[in-house]
Amino acid sequence: MDLMLRECRLPGGELVDIGLGEGVIEAIEPRLAATAAREINVAGKLVSPPFVESHIHLDSALTAGQPRWNKSGTLFEGIEIWRDRKQSLSLEDVKARAIATLKLQAQQGVLFVRSHADVSEANLSALKALLEVRDTVKDWITVQVVAFPQDGLYGSPGNLDLMEAALKLGADAVGGIPHYEMTREDGVQSVHRIFELAQHYDRLIDIHCDEIDDDQSRFLEVVAACAVRSGLGSRVTASHTTAFASYNNAYAFKLMGLLSRADINFIANPLINITLQGRTDTYPKRRGVTRVKELWQQGLNVSLGHDCVQDPWYSLGSGNMLDVASMAVHVCQMTGQDEIVACYDMITTNGAKTLAVQDAYGLEVGKPANLIVLDADSPYEAIRRTATVTHVFSRGKLLVQTQPAEVTWQNAHEG
Ligand SMILES: [Zn+2]
Repeated sequence: MDLMLRECRLPGGELVDIGLGEGVIEAIEPRLAATAAREINVAGKLVSPPFVESHIHLDSALTAGQPRWNKSGTLFEGIEIWRDRKQSLSLEDVKARAIATLKLQAQQGVLFVRSHADVSEANLSALKALLEVRDTVKDWITVQVVAFPQDGLYGSPGNLDLMEAALKLGADAVGGIPHYEMTREDGVQSVHRIFELAQHYDRLIDIHCDEIDDDQSRFLEVVAACAVRSGLGSRVTASHTTAFASYNNAYAFKLMGLLSRADINFIANPLINITLQGRTDTYPKRRGVTRVKELWQQGLNVSLGHDCVQDPWYSLGSGNMLDVASMAVHVCQMTGQDEIVACYDMITTNGAKTLAVQDAYGLEVGKPANLIVLDADSPYEAIRRTATVTHVFSRGKLLVQTQPAEVTWQNAHEG
Protein backbone atom coordinates (compact mmCIF):
# COMPACT_ATOMS: atom_id res chain seq x y z
CA MET A 1 0.00 0.00 0.00
CA ASP A 2 1.19 3.51 -0.80
CA LEU A 3 -0.74 5.37 1.84
CA MET A 4 -2.52 4.50 5.08
CA LEU A 5 -5.08 6.80 6.67
CA ARG A 6 -5.58 5.88 10.33
CA GLU A 7 -8.60 6.57 12.57
CA CYS A 8 -10.96 7.84 9.90
CA ARG A 9 -14.52 8.68 10.97
CA LEU A 10 -16.86 7.63 8.17
CA PRO A 11 -20.05 9.66 7.50
CA GLY A 12 -22.05 6.81 9.10
CA GLY A 13 -19.98 7.07 12.31
CA GLU A 14 -17.68 4.00 12.16
CA LEU A 15 -13.96 4.45 12.91
CA VAL A 16 -11.72 2.73 10.34
CA ASP A 17 -8.29 2.68 8.73
CA ILE A 18 -8.22 3.16 4.96
CA GLY A 19 -5.37 1.85 2.80
CA LEU A 20 -4.71 3.31 -0.66
CA GLY A 21 -2.53 1.81 -3.39
CA GLU A 22 -2.15 2.17 -7.13
CA GLY A 23 -4.81 4.86 -7.20
CA VAL A 24 -7.56 2.75 -5.64
CA ILE A 25 -8.94 2.07 -2.18
CA GLU A 26 -7.31 -1.25 -1.22
CA ALA A 27 -8.70 -1.82 2.24
CA ILE A 28 -11.16 -0.40 4.77
CA GLU A 29 -11.13 -2.10 8.19
CA PRO A 30 -11.57 -1.06 11.82
CA ARG A 31 -7.84 -1.71 12.39
CA LEU A 32 -5.50 -2.55 9.51
CA ALA A 33 -2.34 -4.43 10.48
CA ALA A 34 -0.62 -3.64 7.20
CA THR A 35 1.68 -0.65 6.97
CA ALA A 36 2.29 1.73 4.11
CA ALA A 37 5.09 3.91 2.81
CA ARG A 38 3.25 6.93 4.15
CA GLU A 39 0.84 7.01 7.10
CA ILE A 40 -1.43 9.84 8.19
CA ASN A 41 -3.40 9.66 11.43
CA VAL A 42 -6.46 11.85 11.03
CA ALA A 43 -7.44 11.33 14.69
CA GLY A 44 -11.14 10.62 14.30
CA LYS A 45 -11.85 13.36 11.76
CA LEU A 46 -14.57 12.88 9.15
CA VAL A 47 -13.38 11.12 6.00
CA SER A 48 -15.90 11.38 3.20
CA PRO A 49 -16.16 10.73 -0.49
CA PRO A 50 -15.41 14.03 -2.25
CA PHE A 51 -17.98 16.74 -2.86
CA VAL A 52 -19.86 16.72 -6.14
CA GLU A 53 -20.72 20.04 -7.77
CA SER A 54 -23.82 19.09 -9.77
CA HIS A 55 -24.48 22.41 -11.46
CA ILE A 56 -22.11 25.24 -12.27
CA HIS A 57 -21.44 27.56 -15.21
CA LEU A 58 -17.65 27.55 -15.50
CA ASP A 59 -17.79 29.59 -18.73
CA SER A 60 -19.24 32.63 -16.96
CA ALA A 61 -17.47 32.16 -13.59
CA LEU A 62 -15.30 35.04 -12.35
CA THR A 63 -16.80 37.63 -14.74
CA ALA A 64 -18.93 39.59 -12.22
CA GLY A 65 -18.90 43.29 -13.14
CA GLN A 66 -17.89 42.67 -16.76
CA PRO A 67 -18.93 44.69 -18.66
CA ARG A 68 -21.28 45.94 -15.92
CA TRP A 69 -22.82 44.83 -12.62
CA ASN A 70 -26.31 43.38 -12.42
CA LYS A 71 -28.30 46.18 -10.75
CA SER A 72 -31.75 44.61 -10.62
CA GLY A 73 -30.38 41.27 -9.41
CA THR A 74 -32.74 39.43 -11.76
CA LEU A 75 -32.11 36.38 -13.91
CA PHE A 76 -33.15 38.31 -17.00
CA GLU A 77 -30.73 41.22 -16.47
CA GLY A 78 -28.06 38.54 -15.91
CA ILE A 79 -28.86 36.99 -19.31
CA GLU A 80 -28.62 40.48 -20.94
CA ILE A 81 -25.24 41.19 -19.35
CA TRP A 82 -23.93 37.77 -20.31
CA ARG A 83 -25.10 38.33 -23.90
CA ASP A 84 -22.76 41.37 -24.01
CA ARG A 85 -19.86 39.72 -22.16
CA LYS A 86 -19.89 36.65 -24.35
CA GLN A 87 -19.16 38.74 -27.44
CA SER A 88 -15.55 38.90 -26.22
CA LEU A 89 -15.18 35.26 -25.17
CA SER A 90 -12.00 33.54 -26.32
CA LEU A 91 -10.74 30.05 -25.65
CA GLU A 92 -7.94 31.41 -23.45
CA ASP A 93 -10.31 33.64 -21.46
CA VAL A 94 -12.72 30.76 -20.69
CA LYS A 95 -9.98 28.21 -19.98
CA ALA A 96 -8.14 30.45 -17.52
CA ARG A 97 -11.29 31.28 -15.53
CA ALA A 98 -12.55 27.68 -15.62
CA ILE A 99 -9.28 26.27 -14.30
CA ALA A 100 -9.05 28.94 -11.60
CA THR A 101 -12.60 28.02 -10.50
CA LEU A 102 -11.89 24.27 -10.57
CA LYS A 103 -8.85 24.82 -8.34
CA LEU A 104 -10.96 26.87 -5.94
CA GLN A 105 -13.45 23.99 -5.85
CA ALA A 106 -10.88 21.19 -5.58
CA GLN A 107 -9.10 22.83 -2.67
CA GLN A 108 -12.44 22.73 -0.87
CA GLY A 109 -13.00 19.04 -1.59
CA VAL A 110 -14.86 19.03 -4.91
CA LEU A 111 -13.56 16.35 -7.32
CA PHE A 112 -16.59 15.88 -9.60
CA VAL A 113 -18.13 18.81 -11.47
CA ARG A 114 -20.95 19.17 -14.00
CA SER A 115 -20.62 22.44 -15.87
CA HIS A 116 -22.94 23.99 -18.40
CA ALA A 117 -21.39 25.60 -21.48
CA ASP A 118 -23.38 28.21 -23.35
CA VAL A 119 -23.84 27.02 -26.94
CA SER A 120 -25.89 29.95 -28.25
CA GLU A 121 -22.83 31.84 -29.46
CA ALA A 122 -21.68 31.27 -33.05
CA ASN A 123 -18.05 30.25 -32.37
CA LEU A 124 -18.91 27.78 -29.58
CA SER A 125 -15.89 29.22 -27.71
CA ALA A 126 -17.29 28.39 -24.28
CA LEU A 127 -17.97 24.79 -25.23
CA LYS A 128 -14.67 24.21 -27.00
CA ALA A 129 -12.76 25.73 -24.10
CA LEU A 130 -14.57 23.62 -21.48
CA LEU A 131 -14.07 20.42 -23.48
CA GLU A 132 -10.34 21.21 -23.56
CA VAL A 133 -10.38 21.93 -19.84
CA ARG A 134 -12.20 18.62 -19.18
CA ASP A 135 -9.26 16.89 -20.79
CA THR A 136 -6.51 19.02 -19.23
CA VAL A 137 -7.69 18.43 -15.66
CA LYS A 138 -8.84 14.80 -15.92
CA ASP A 139 -5.98 13.45 -13.83
CA TRP A 140 -7.15 15.33 -10.74
CA ILE A 141 -10.81 16.34 -11.22
CA THR A 142 -13.68 14.93 -13.29
CA VAL A 143 -15.60 17.47 -15.36
CA GLN A 144 -18.79 16.87 -17.36
CA VAL A 145 -19.93 19.43 -19.91
CA VAL A 146 -23.58 20.13 -20.71
CA ALA A 147 -24.35 21.87 -24.02
CA PHE A 148 -26.62 24.64 -22.73
CA PRO A 149 -28.60 26.83 -25.17
CA GLN A 150 -28.80 29.94 -22.95
CA ASP A 151 -30.89 31.90 -25.48
CA GLY A 152 -33.24 28.99 -26.23
CA LEU A 153 -33.11 26.21 -28.81
CA TYR A 154 -35.63 28.13 -30.91
CA GLY A 155 -34.61 31.65 -29.78
CA SER A 156 -32.65 32.33 -32.97
CA PRO A 157 -32.30 30.50 -36.24
CA GLY A 158 -29.15 28.44 -36.09
CA ASN A 159 -29.35 27.56 -32.39
CA LEU A 160 -30.41 23.99 -33.11
CA ASP A 161 -27.44 23.56 -35.44
CA LEU A 162 -25.12 24.90 -32.75
CA MET A 163 -26.53 22.35 -30.28
CA GLU A 164 -25.96 19.54 -32.72
CA ALA A 165 -22.42 20.76 -33.45
CA ALA A 166 -21.74 20.85 -29.69
CA LEU A 167 -22.83 17.22 -29.34
CA LYS A 168 -20.63 16.20 -32.25
CA LEU A 169 -17.70 17.96 -30.57
CA GLY A 170 -18.22 15.78 -27.50
CA ALA A 171 -20.51 17.47 -24.95
CA ASP A 172 -21.54 14.93 -22.29
CA ALA A 173 -25.13 16.09 -21.95
CA VAL A 174 -27.88 17.92 -23.81
CA GLY A 175 -29.21 21.01 -22.02
CA GLY A 176 -32.23 23.24 -22.48
CA ILE A 177 -34.20 26.17 -21.14
CA PRO A 178 -37.87 25.57 -22.11
CA HIS A 179 -39.32 28.35 -19.89
CA TYR A 180 -37.18 30.93 -21.72
CA GLU A 181 -38.31 29.91 -25.23
CA MET A 182 -40.62 32.44 -26.93
CA THR A 183 -43.82 30.44 -26.48
CA ARG A 184 -45.12 27.57 -24.38
CA GLU A 185 -45.27 25.51 -27.60
CA ASP A 186 -41.61 26.23 -28.39
CA GLY A 187 -40.75 25.17 -24.86
CA VAL A 188 -42.58 21.84 -25.18
CA GLN A 189 -41.04 21.26 -28.61
CA SER A 190 -37.57 22.01 -27.22
CA VAL A 191 -37.96 19.29 -24.56
CA HIS A 192 -38.99 16.74 -27.20
CA ARG A 193 -36.03 17.76 -29.37
CA ILE A 194 -33.62 17.43 -26.41
CA PHE A 195 -34.77 13.84 -25.82
CA GLU A 196 -34.39 12.99 -29.51
CA LEU A 197 -30.86 14.40 -29.55
CA ALA A 198 -29.90 12.59 -26.34
CA GLN A 199 -31.08 9.29 -27.77
CA HIS A 200 -29.47 9.86 -31.15
CA TYR A 201 -26.07 10.83 -29.69
CA ASP A 202 -26.32 8.66 -26.54
CA ARG A 203 -25.86 11.51 -24.07
CA LEU A 204 -27.21 12.50 -20.67
CA ILE A 205 -29.86 15.23 -20.29
CA ASP A 206 -29.77 18.20 -17.90
CA ILE A 207 -32.41 20.86 -18.51
CA HIS A 208 -32.74 24.26 -16.84
CA CYS A 209 -36.41 23.65 -16.13
CA ASP A 210 -38.98 26.16 -14.90
CA GLU A 211 -36.43 28.54 -13.34
CA ILE A 212 -39.08 31.20 -12.90
CA ASP A 213 -41.70 32.12 -10.28
CA ASP A 214 -44.53 31.68 -12.81
CA ASP A 215 -46.90 29.06 -11.38
CA GLN A 216 -47.99 28.33 -14.96
CA SER A 217 -44.50 27.29 -16.04
CA ARG A 218 -45.03 23.54 -16.31
CA PHE A 219 -42.23 22.03 -18.33
CA LEU A 220 -41.25 19.63 -15.55
CA GLU A 221 -44.29 17.50 -16.41
CA VAL A 222 -43.13 17.43 -20.05
CA VAL A 223 -39.61 16.36 -19.02
CA ALA A 224 -41.02 13.67 -16.72
CA ALA A 225 -43.41 12.35 -19.38
CA CYS A 226 -40.58 12.18 -21.95
CA ALA A 227 -38.41 10.36 -19.39
CA VAL A 228 -41.18 7.78 -18.81
CA ARG A 229 -41.84 7.26 -22.52
CA SER A 230 -38.18 7.13 -23.58
CA GLY A 231 -37.10 4.99 -20.64
CA LEU A 232 -34.15 7.34 -20.10
CA GLY A 233 -35.10 7.79 -16.42
CA SER A 234 -32.02 8.35 -14.29
CA ARG A 235 -30.03 9.69 -17.26
CA VAL A 236 -32.29 12.75 -17.09
CA THR A 237 -31.94 15.72 -14.73
CA ALA A 238 -34.26 18.66 -14.10
CA SER A 239 -32.26 21.59 -12.78
CA HIS A 240 -33.77 24.41 -10.69
CA THR A 241 -37.54 23.63 -11.09
CA THR A 242 -38.20 26.70 -8.95
CA ALA A 243 -41.75 27.14 -10.26
CA PHE A 244 -42.56 23.87 -8.44
CA ALA A 245 -42.44 25.96 -5.25
CA SER A 246 -45.26 28.14 -6.64
CA TYR A 247 -47.57 25.40 -7.93
CA ASN A 248 -50.83 24.83 -6.08
CA ASN A 249 -50.71 21.76 -3.89
CA ALA A 250 -53.36 19.84 -5.85
CA TYR A 251 -51.23 20.05 -8.99
CA ALA A 252 -47.98 19.50 -7.09
CA PHE A 253 -49.40 16.32 -5.56
CA LYS A 254 -50.43 14.97 -8.97
CA LEU A 255 -47.04 15.92 -10.41
CA MET A 256 -45.18 14.14 -7.59
CA GLY A 257 -46.78 10.85 -8.67
CA LEU A 258 -45.52 11.33 -12.22
CA LEU A 259 -42.04 12.27 -10.95
CA SER A 260 -41.83 9.05 -8.93
CA ARG A 261 -42.65 7.10 -12.06
CA ALA A 262 -40.10 9.02 -14.13
CA ASP A 263 -37.16 8.38 -11.75
CA ILE A 264 -35.29 11.50 -12.92
CA ASN A 265 -32.75 13.52 -10.89
CA PHE A 266 -33.29 17.00 -9.47
CA ILE A 267 -30.75 19.72 -8.82
CA ALA A 268 -31.54 22.67 -6.57
CA ASN A 269 -29.28 25.71 -6.47
CA PRO A 270 -30.37 27.37 -3.23
CA LEU A 271 -27.73 30.14 -3.09
CA ILE A 272 -28.76 31.47 -6.47
CA ASN A 273 -32.49 30.88 -6.37
CA ILE A 274 -33.01 32.46 -2.94
CA THR A 275 -31.52 35.63 -4.46
CA LEU A 276 -32.84 35.51 -8.07
CA GLN A 277 -36.42 34.41 -7.44
CA GLY A 278 -39.17 36.42 -5.82
CA ARG A 279 -37.85 39.64 -7.36
CA THR A 280 -41.28 40.61 -8.72
CA ASP A 281 -43.03 39.84 -5.42
CA THR A 282 -43.91 42.43 -2.81
CA TYR A 283 -44.60 40.69 0.51
CA PRO A 284 -44.76 37.90 1.39
CA LYS A 285 -41.78 37.15 -0.88
CA ARG A 286 -41.43 33.62 -2.16
CA ARG A 287 -38.25 31.64 -1.45
CA GLY A 288 -38.22 30.35 -5.01
CA VAL A 289 -36.39 27.12 -4.26
CA THR A 290 -37.93 23.86 -5.47
CA ARG A 291 -39.62 21.42 -3.07
CA VAL A 292 -36.37 19.80 -1.95
CA LYS A 293 -37.74 18.33 1.27
CA GLU A 294 -40.80 16.80 -0.38
CA LEU A 295 -38.77 15.34 -3.27
CA TRP A 296 -36.35 13.82 -0.75
CA GLN A 297 -39.23 12.46 1.37
CA GLN A 298 -40.62 10.89 -1.81
CA GLY A 299 -37.32 9.03 -2.21
CA LEU A 300 -36.27 10.91 -5.36
CA ASN A 301 -32.66 11.81 -6.07
CA VAL A 302 -31.91 15.45 -5.26
CA SER A 303 -28.47 17.00 -5.45
CA LEU A 304 -27.26 20.56 -4.97
CA GLY A 305 -25.26 22.99 -7.05
CA HIS A 306 -23.50 26.30 -6.64
CA ASP A 307 -24.70 27.39 -10.13
CA CYS A 308 -22.65 30.61 -10.17
CA VAL A 309 -19.34 31.82 -8.79
CA GLN A 310 -18.97 35.57 -9.35
CA ASP A 311 -20.88 35.95 -12.59
CA PRO A 312 -23.65 38.20 -14.01
CA TRP A 313 -26.30 36.34 -12.01
CA TYR A 314 -24.53 36.14 -8.65
CA SER A 315 -21.55 38.26 -7.66
CA LEU A 316 -20.84 36.13 -4.58
CA GLY A 317 -19.91 32.43 -4.46
CA SER A 318 -17.05 30.64 -2.75
CA GLY A 319 -16.92 27.29 -4.54
CA ASN A 320 -17.50 25.69 -1.12
CA MET A 321 -20.24 23.02 -1.27
CA LEU A 322 -20.81 23.28 2.49
CA ASP A 323 -22.11 26.84 1.87
CA VAL A 324 -24.58 25.36 -0.62
CA ALA A 325 -25.69 22.62 1.78
CA SER A 326 -26.06 25.12 4.61
CA MET A 327 -28.28 27.34 2.46
CA ALA A 328 -30.41 24.30 1.56
CA VAL A 329 -30.78 23.42 5.25
CA HIS A 330 -32.06 26.94 5.91
CA VAL A 331 -34.19 27.72 2.86
CA CYS A 332 -35.76 24.26 2.64
CA GLN A 333 -36.25 24.12 6.43
CA MET A 334 -34.31 20.86 6.67
CA THR A 335 -33.04 21.40 10.20
CA GLY A 336 -33.88 17.95 11.63
CA GLN A 337 -30.78 15.82 12.24
CA ASP A 338 -31.65 13.34 9.48
CA GLU A 339 -32.53 16.23 7.19
CA ILE A 340 -29.14 17.90 7.72
CA VAL A 341 -27.43 14.60 6.93
CA ALA A 342 -29.65 14.34 3.81
CA CYS A 343 -28.33 17.74 2.69
CA TYR A 344 -24.78 16.40 3.11
CA ASP A 345 -25.76 13.43 0.90
CA MET A 346 -27.00 15.96 -1.69
CA ILE A 347 -23.46 17.36 -2.11
CA THR A 348 -21.84 13.89 -2.11
CA THR A 349 -23.49 10.56 -3.03
CA ASN A 350 -26.66 12.02 -4.58
CA GLY A 351 -24.54 14.26 -6.78
CA ALA A 352 -22.59 11.21 -7.98
CA LYS A 353 -25.90 9.59 -8.92
CA THR A 354 -27.01 12.70 -10.84
CA LEU A 355 -23.73 12.72 -12.76
CA ALA A 356 -23.98 8.93 -13.31
CA VAL A 357 -20.44 8.45 -11.99
CA GLN A 358 -21.26 5.94 -9.20
CA ASP A 359 -18.76 3.42 -10.57
CA ALA A 360 -15.88 5.80 -9.84
CA TYR A 361 -17.31 7.18 -6.63
CA GLY A 362 -17.58 6.16 -2.98
CA LEU A 363 -15.60 4.83 -0.05
CA GLU A 364 -15.48 1.18 -1.10
CA VAL A 365 -12.65 -1.25 -1.71
CA GLY A 366 -11.73 -1.28 -5.39
CA LYS A 367 -13.07 2.21 -6.11
CA PRO A 368 -10.71 4.99 -7.27
CA ALA A 369 -9.07 6.58 -4.22
CA ASN A 370 -10.91 9.91 -4.19
CA LEU A 371 -11.63 11.09 -0.67
CA ILE A 372 -11.50 14.10 1.60
CA VAL A 373 -10.73 14.71 5.29
CA LEU A 374 -12.68 17.41 7.11
CA ASP A 375 -12.00 19.25 10.35
CA ALA A 376 -15.25 17.87 11.83
CA ASP A 377 -16.42 14.56 13.25
CA SER A 378 -19.76 14.23 11.40
CA PRO A 379 -21.64 15.55 8.37
CA TYR A 380 -23.80 17.62 10.76
CA GLU A 381 -20.72 19.33 12.26
CA ALA A 382 -19.22 19.81 8.80
CA ILE A 383 -22.28 21.78 7.66
CA ARG A 384 -22.82 23.62 10.96
CA ARG A 385 -19.27 24.98 11.08
CA THR A 386 -18.51 25.07 7.32
CA ALA A 387 -15.59 22.86 8.32
CA THR A 388 -12.23 23.18 6.59
CA VAL A 389 -11.39 20.35 4.20
CA THR A 390 -7.90 19.60 5.48
CA HIS A 391 -6.85 16.94 2.93
CA VAL A 392 -8.02 16.20 -0.60
CA PHE A 393 -6.91 12.85 -2.05
CA SER A 394 -7.44 12.47 -5.78
CA ARG A 395 -6.65 9.27 -7.68
CA GLY A 396 -4.74 8.03 -4.62
CA LYS A 397 -2.53 11.09 -4.27
CA LEU A 398 -2.65 13.98 -1.83
CA LEU A 399 -3.74 16.89 -4.03
CA VAL A 400 -4.23 19.74 -1.54
CA GLN A 401 -3.78 20.30 2.15
CA THR A 402 -5.29 23.19 4.15
CA GLN A 403 -4.66 24.14 7.78
CA PRO A 404 -7.81 25.00 9.75
CA ALA A 405 -7.81 28.47 11.31
CA GLU A 406 -6.26 28.50 14.79
CA VAL A 407 -7.79 30.62 17.53
CA THR A 408 -5.73 31.79 20.51
CA TRP A 409 -7.33 33.57 23.47
CA GLN A 410 -5.00 35.89 25.34
CA ASN A 411 -4.26 35.28 29.06
CA ALA A 412 -6.27 38.23 30.39
CA HIS A 413 -9.51 36.71 29.08
CA GLU A 414 -8.97 33.17 30.32
CA GLY A 415 -11.57 31.71 32.67
ZN1 LIG B 1 -27.66 27.13 -14.32
